[in-house]
Amino acid sequence: MSFDYDLFVIGGGSGGVRAARTSAQEGAKVALAEEYRLGGTCVIRGCVPKKLMVFASSYAQRMKDAQAYGWDVTPGDFSWPDFRKKLHAELDRLEGVYGRLLDGSDVEVFAQRAKVKDPHTVELADGTTYTAKHILIAVGGHPVRPDIPNADLGLVSNDIFLMEEMPKSVLIIGGGYIACEFACILNGLGVKVTQFYRGAQILRGFDDEARGLIAEQMKAQGIDLHLGTNIVEMAPASHHEERADTEAVMEEPVGLTNIGDKTLGNNPESATSEDAGKPIWVKATNGSEGVFDHVFFATGRTPSVEGLGLEEAGVKLGRRGEIEVDDYSQTSVPSIYAIGDVTGRIELTPVAIREGMAFTETVFKGNPTKPDHELVPSAIFTQPEYGAIGLTEEQARDQEPIEVYATSFKPMNHAFAGRDDRVLMKLIVSQETRKVLGCHIVADDAGEMIQLAGIAVKMGATKEDFDRVCAVHPTMAEELVTMKSPARTS
Ligand code: NDP
Repeated sequence: MSFDYDLFVIGGGSGGVRAARTSAQEGAKVALAEEYRLGGTCVIRGCVPKKLMVFASSYAQRMKDAQAYGWDVTPGDFSWPDFRKKLHAELDRLEGVYGRLLDGSDVEVFAQRAKVKDPHTVELADGTTYTAKHILIAVGGHPVRPDIPNADLGLVSNDIFLMEEMPKSVLIIGGGYIACEFACILNGLGVKVTQFYRGAQILRGFDDEARGLIAEQMKAQGIDLHLGTNIVEMAPASHHEERADTEAVMEEPVGLTNIGDKTLGNNPESATSEDAGKPIWVKATNGSEGVFDHVFFATGRTPSVEGLGLEEAGVKLGRRGEIEVDDYSQTSVPSIYAIGDVTGRIELTPVAIREGMAFTETVFKGNPTKPDHELVPSAIFTQPEYGAIGLTEEQARDQEPIEVYATSFKPMNHAFAGRDDRVLMKLIVSQETRKVLGCHIVADDAGEMIQLAGIAVKMGATKEDFDRVCAVHPTMAEELVTMKSPARTS
């Protein structure tokens, strides 16, 4: 049977674009459909604009540091409109690069939504259909709001980069990667940040000691972090005021005030589109209430499978809506593969890219290849950053007897500037094999450091291998090779 294409990719994010290009380079005839902008979550509304905002937000502290180092500088105001214009020009440039890379690889791009019609047919939004020997789903995921009335009034991560004005106050809901990164970014840009996390400590799943240090430093920087707290109600502040007891409502968006169990009138009416962008009244699980310019939900992401025709075509989905795939990214329909966030494996761009390349090896190079999901390093771009690879102390302790090497100290740069913030360097070592099972770094540029330490950990380096490396002095990272005695064993 002959097909229009050897491969039809649905989704033009990092994973889909890489799979399309590498497959085309192997001689496959490839098409790709993207309904929004080439580059996907990472380039257009995730990692890239987020990291540029991390840089922008770090300058307030840097200017204070510069003063401490003798520079005569006076911090001025941050211009969100100026930054935003430049940010979007950069995203346009990157989108162009992605388009040119696809053109250069002879991938035919359809700038519209596509869905699966049957195991070998794709239907575009304009009704045209194309057949393909293989279909690759790389549509990613999207942020979800919690199921409470008026949740639509809240922003999600996609909206942050498009805001017209920088708010004066914001309430962030969630304690994961996105919540913590944006709490730090907005705080650095001068926004009054309140954060609610329903659990006992932010960044669930990461090393407890690292989580504790990051939470402590976020609070020290002025983030009003409330643990064990969630949002229970929200409404436009204007609706609320109309119905409220006058003494209890705040006039300005000022953040959270604990006013006990005071009753603030009846349930506010549902919001309308006119309420978008106006101050929002919020009630928390602990009874406190407040008014914020924006509420930002960073309460997780979900695979973007709706309306893709997957189940109709026989593709099995998991409990969270993720596409179920085998070790080679093949779905329950042999001609359909899936990579990236839509498969709910590890939601990181570099992982999706590797899954895309493994797909090409498997399908177009006759070399069945499983993407490697073991020992994937990652960084959380909080301030300070957190870089991690391997097991947490808690996970390792449950698995086998370990030694924990850890040091927390004021780095030279901060100490000289009179700052109190500490860094953390931590290695988890197997007592039996001496291998480094986990490495955790909380420090400026921890992302850069963990990329390099990650090579050693991935190679199976032992603590003694680390120790054989001479220190680079004076650096923060030298502690990774100079920690002599375990802080504890278990
Ligand atoms: P996460 O799953 O990391 O965090 C979601 C947070 O929202 C958790 O704290 C969760 O609480 C909380 N939550 C979920 N539902 C509710 C609810 N109904 N009410 C209140 N709180 C709720 O998701 P993110 O969206 O932050 O990030 C998604 C993924 O994107 C990450 O897992 C990561 O893989 C990737 N990412 C990576 C980045 C990086 O590499 N630097 C940056 C950003 C994202 P609980 O812990 O109790 O479940």
